[in-house]
Amino acid sequence: MSPQACPLCQGQEFNVVHECVDYTASNSVFHISSCGVCGFLVTRPQPAQDEIMSFYPDADYISHSSTAVTLTDYLFKIARAFTLRWKQTIISAHSQKGTLLDVGCGTGDFLFACKKSGWQITGVEPSMKAQKLAAQKTASHIHTKLEEVSGHEFNVITLWHVLEHLHDPNGTIQKLKTLLAQNGILVIALPNYESFDANKYNAYWAGFDVPRHLWHFSSSNFNKLAKNNGLNVVTTIPMKLDSYYVSLLSEKTNVEKTP
Ligand SMILES: [Zn+2]
Repeated sequence: MSPQACPLCQGQEFNVVHECVDYTASNSVFHISSCGVCGFLVTRPQPAQDEIMSFYPDADYISHSSTAVTLTDYLFKIARAFTLRWKQTIISAHSQKGTLLDVGCGTGDFLFACKKSGWQITGVEPSMKAQKLAAQKTASHIHTKLEEVSGHEFNVITLWHVLEHLHDPNGTIQKLKTLLAQNGILVIALPNYESFDANKYNAYWAGFDVPRHLWHFSSSNFNKLAKNNGLNVVTTIPMKLDSYYVSLLSEKTNVEKTP
């Protein structure tokens, strides 16, 4: 199943840019295709929502796993400890301590760190295995779906390398807007295909991670997605450790909100 229309401009024509192999799960070939109108990069075909979990090899998918096994995993976990601290610095620099929602919280390391430093936390994680670990770690209920979260106004909502996994980026951002407090901030971390490492590795760049990554962002196409959804990009910050980047968005005033 492929997206019928570009989520940024509703364009219907796509041109193949890269052929990428899913070395993590299926060994199948997926195309990274560019929208003929706006150039947004999408994975085609995209597994349907009820099929996508079969492309996450459960225990092996690194952000869902808590036990270091291989050397790469071990190094990843050391890097993650630094990144955890860095993430907290980012949110503290832009918000008073208050309520925080982490969407796609994995095994809950970030939520746990936030809870320890005084945030009131809420988490969402669709992988049942990761969700169980997150619930144990944080001693909090973790939701399976974003739709289950309601009646809250969050000061901070974070999506650390999550938006590119979700089938409906516009719908997700609209839902998040309803959950943000006035002057609340969204922190969205994404792989950037215009980064140095992406250019170096081309179709082999790990940030494409097909078919788990359904969409591929650059600074400019992400800004367009934010603008289309009535969000104001406050700042873009490189995550030097893994060459990813983070965009920090704030809810515009009600007047500026798109309907
Ligand atoms: Zn487009």
